Amino acid sequence: MKCPDCGLNNRAGVLLCEHCGADLYEALLERVATRNLKGFQTRELPSGAVAASSNPIVLYVNSSDSSLTIGRRRGIIIGRGTVDDGIDLDMTPYGAQNLGVSRRHARFDAHAEHLTLTDLNSTNGTFLNESRIPANQAVVLRSGDEVRIGRMVLRLYFK
Ligand SMILES: [Zn+2]
Repeated sequence: MKCPDCGLNNRAGVLLCEHCGADLYEALLERVATRNLKGFQTRELPSGAVAASSNPIVLYVNSSDSSLTIGRRRGIIIGRGTVDDGIDLDMTPYGAQNLGVSRRHARFDAHAEHLTLTDLNSTNGTFLNESRIPANQAVVLRSGDEVRIGRMVLRLYFK
């Protein structure tokens, strides 16, 4: 992934830029703050936001060099559709349909100590660091992990 500070294309999963040492989470976060997040809606839930950290999760979309942030909470549905459809992260602007992303593809859940990912019985599957994860079973994520939904590659950074 490309360092937002110096532009170096770092190896997958690197947390600190190998050229300038920038903390990629912080660098992405700074850049996200100035980006236009039009088209991304996050649903505010009345409950469920229990986290030790209030730092947002940064989702880096490999195909577009774009990143977006997600507030930490339980039940963040990623797929294609609107908030009214129950979709929190609509990946349509990133070509989700052509990349085989299901309408309700997967769910992120921020817990106090960790972040998990659950495949919602998607058609084309969810992969963590290139291994397909079983449907309806939460797996724990680490910062820098690659998550693939269908053929859309995402990388997650969080603290
Ligand atoms: Zn750099």
